[in-house]
Amino acid sequence: MFSWLSGLLSNDLAIDLGTANTLAYARGQGIICSEPSVVAVSEHGRERKILAVGTEAKEMVGRTPGAIRAIRPIKDGVIADFEITSAMLTYFINKAHNRKYLVRPRIVICVPPCITSVEKRAVRDSALAAGAREVFLLEEPMAAAIGAGLNVTEPTGNMVIDIGGGTTDVAVISLAGIVTSNSIRVAGDKLDEAIINYVKRKHNLLIGERTAEIIKITIGTCMSRGPVRTMEIKGRDLVAGIPKMIVLSSEEVREALTDPVHQIVEAVLHTLERTPPELAADIVDRGIVLVGGGSLLRDFDQLLREETKLPIVRGDDPFTAVAMGAGKTLESLDLLREVALPVP
Ligand code: ADP
Ligand code: MG
Repeated sequence: MFSWLSGLLSNDLAIDLGTANTLAYARGQGIICSEPSVVAVSEHGRERKILAVGTEAKEMVGRTPGAIRAIRPIKDGVIADFEITSAMLTYFINKAHNRKYLVRPRIVICVPPCITSVEKRAVRDSALAAGAREVFLLEEPMAAAIGAGLNVTEPTGNMVIDIGGGTTDVAVISLAGIVTSNSIRVAGDKLDEAIINYVKRKHNLLIGERTAEIIKITIGTCMSRGPVRTMEIKGRDLVAGIPKMIVLSSEEVREALTDPVHQIVEAVLHTLERTPPELAADIVDRGIVLVGGGSLLRDFDQLLREETKLPIVRGDDPFTAVAMGAGKTLESLDLLREVALPVP
């Protein structure tokens, strides 16, 4: 009775600290916030001041005056800036709690699979500093698998592909652990970069990261099927130096994305090759679970199906799979203890 009450009051949290988006899940409530992993800081010499976090900070990207910088503290799946990551965690924890409850929560934080010991301690310490009573670290692919409803503690192989902003993580899970995994720094951001470079090369037009992302989401694709779509885009003419508008087609975007898309497919094939045969046989039966915002690229699932000849299973929502899975572990402490990463 008492533990039930303290569980209710403590408002335990699960946080998916992604390179592009951070989501918070509160026990008993579900996902309570989802915002870009961006922090805007003003810099005067060595002094830094945090101006905004999340959505508000993302709107500043590429539009900030000299002394203000919009920082994405988690780059390429690793924590590039501890101080800012910790500020971001504090913001999300405070936002989730609204300072309503006095009991210190238990917090599960999802981290990239190849996180170092130093990074593990840094994440744990910043959550403790933000008021956590107990911190558990959970690898993102594990959380995604739980979120997709896979029984991760069985001796059965499951493959999860998570295409996020900074990294694509491919993992084979069995018996509550990651058996083989592969993480490459090619994901959503690299697709945006490829579009920027293509437009620069082919149209002499300079576009920003935000524009490139909008192009990818609106007309991006990785196969030539269906009708060709077009979009008007604006940027700065590299020759004349003035703002200009051009029309870009989905075929051009497909061409621009060929390289990074191919690298992602290669990473998947490579992981399959390194998977022990018994587990590979399980994957043939159960298919591959595809999560992460980057996996929404049009026809990506179809391409993967053709390249691997395996069934591709999509979760309900690629953006929330990791946070939902981590949230599920809050309901079962036994499961959480079994799948959480040890922190040295
Ligand atoms: P992370 O876990 O690294 O924070 P997310 O899973 O939130 O990443 O995915 C973010 C990535 O998904 C971004 O690169 C974003 O541009 C991309 N994305 C979002 N929607 C789409 C879409 N419809 N098509 C292609 N990519 C998308
Ligand atoms: Mg993610």
